[in-house]
Amino acid sequence: MLQIQGLKKRYGNFQVLDGLDMAVPEGSLYGFVGPNGAGKTTTIKIIVGLLKADEGIIKFSEQVADHGNWQEHVGYVPDFFGVYDNLKVTEYMEFFAACYDMEGLKARKRIMALLEQMGLEDKKDFYVDGLSKGIQQRLCLARALIHDPEVLILDEPTAGLDPRTRFEFKEILKELKDQGKTIVISSHILSELAELCTDVGIIDQGKMALTGSIDEILSQVNSSNPIVITLLGEGRELALNILKSHPYVHTITVKGQEIIVRFTGDKQDEAVLLQQLVDAGILITSFTREQGSLESLFMQITGKEEERTVLKYENESGL
Ligand code: ADP
Repeated sequence: MLQIQGLKKRYGNFQVLDGLDMAVPEGSLYGFVGPNGAGKTTTIKIIVGLLKADEGIIKFSEQVADHGNWQEHVGYVPDFFGVYDNLKVTEYMEFFAACYDMEGLKARKRIMALLEQMGLEDKKDFYVDGLSKGIQQRLCLARALIHDPEVLILDEPTAGLDPRTRFEFKEILKELKDQGKTIVISSHILSELAELCTDVGIIDQGKMALTGSIDEILSQVNSSNPIVITLLGEGRELALNILKSHPYVHTITVKGQEIIVRFTGDKQDEAVLLQQLVDAGILITSFTREQGSLESLFMQITGKEEERTVLKYENESGL
């Protein structure tokens, strides 16, 4: 389990991380998601020991990572590959093995096992710089696993990969998870991670805005989704008047016979609203919460959604 408490980091006057908390359950595939500039790379660099935090605690399996040697716990796949002139795949791997004091037969065995696992055994004599981006990415993953860390951290690993390569890469990550690794993967695109991850943390402006298992979060998403009310007959204006004066109604969109309402009340409030509309003599054929997606929640949290707009009409011609 990787745990971060109260992480702070400032660049000059700019507070990049402002008390970030993060709990990555053991064996999870954790999506670390947030818009560009939210502080993901900064957090990751601190976790892997490339940057020093101003404040905060990092723990691996309840053990506090301080100035000691915590890099052994973590493998890091950065968001860039780097340039390795005239280095072949095996030489590249041997170089990183040597960084962890692995040499000779032990290193060669480990390297071959990892290249096989990543489907790179036929590339071992290729020059690293000539490999495609997808193959370089897998090689980077192999290198990050050289010392068999408990936690693997990948910064925007699928950026710039074509869909097929991305798919293959995700399959490798699932396999590693099944083998017991804890994996943290960052992205600014939530849909990239939604079907892959077991858990998610949404970072916004240097703080964790929402975190939990995908299932828990999806149940929250649904309660924050709009209610769609479908009317029969002439009651629209009356319904709109009731909705406009309701304290829990934030936005109203009219689409043909449907009224879509962003409503912050709970189930009880929903029932009372429905009763109120029915009591006013409005004929309603359906009244349902839209089933939501993680993406819609992400947009709400990171402020990309509309502010309180009272009334919006779409498809007027349909009325
Ligand atoms: P993300 O990975 O979520 O896109 P980053 O952690 O890379 O976010 O960056 C967060 C913010 O900190 C950005 O606004 C970025 O411009 C700024 N930043 C990152 N590194 C530095 C630095 N070395 N000096 C000053 N500002 C930086």
